[in-house]
Amino acid sequence: MFSAGKAIKYGLAKLLPGTVLIKGKPQAARVALTFDDGPHPQHTESILDILDRGGAKATFFLQGKEAEKYPALVRKIFSRGHQLGNHGYGHLDAKRVAKREYIAEVERAQQALQNIVGAQIDKIFRPPYGNITGAAFLPLALAGYLFVFWSVDSRDSFIRTAPELVAHVETIKISAGDIVLLHEDYAHTVAALPTILQSLSARSLGFSKIDGM
Ligand SMILES: [Zn+2]
Repeated sequence: MFSAGKAIKYGLAKLLPGTVLIKGKPQAARVALTFDDGPHPQHTESILDILDRGGAKATFFLQGKEAEKYPALVRKIFSRGHQLGNHGYGHLDAKRVAKREYIAEVERAQQALQNIVGAQIDKIFRPPYGNITGAAFLPLALAGYLFVFWSVDSRDSFIRTAPELVAHVETIKISAGDIVLLHEDYAHTVAALPTILQSLSARSLGFSKIDGM
């Protein structure tokens, strides 16, 4: 996930809690649902409606390029009380591009999101593919970005149907403070979401945005 390895990533989260977040504090019985890669013209509105029905707030890590294509969806996510996060402008892999290009992409996405909603948004950044390099990490950390990874992968990128996704989520241990990775671009994620919310609620877990973790 982190180019330097999972152990180092967890070490960084411990050393630099204001800079790297993998899992929230377990004190409150809440988890953070995070949706990557949107906004999505067919799925965002459905996800928002399902979250409303489940009384859940979530965090959306948006791609700057997609946000500019669908600005009304970005404003809708924001105005309905969810947290916006930065997922880069064009979903570049930190391991495959030069540091300077990568940093410019992150800043460009941040600016795009802020222009769309007309407000400052939190500097929370989820690196595409979960990849970051030491060279790109430091300048972004110094610029005030909180790197948000995840402690639970729903595996919705690999699973192909809603029943299988629901079944998988039922089997994974999810506990207070977990940050759960989901994506906006799969119809099976949308179809499974109501049951996933019920399943987590049945485990006495509430839902929080990243800023509440
Ligand atoms: Zn992504």
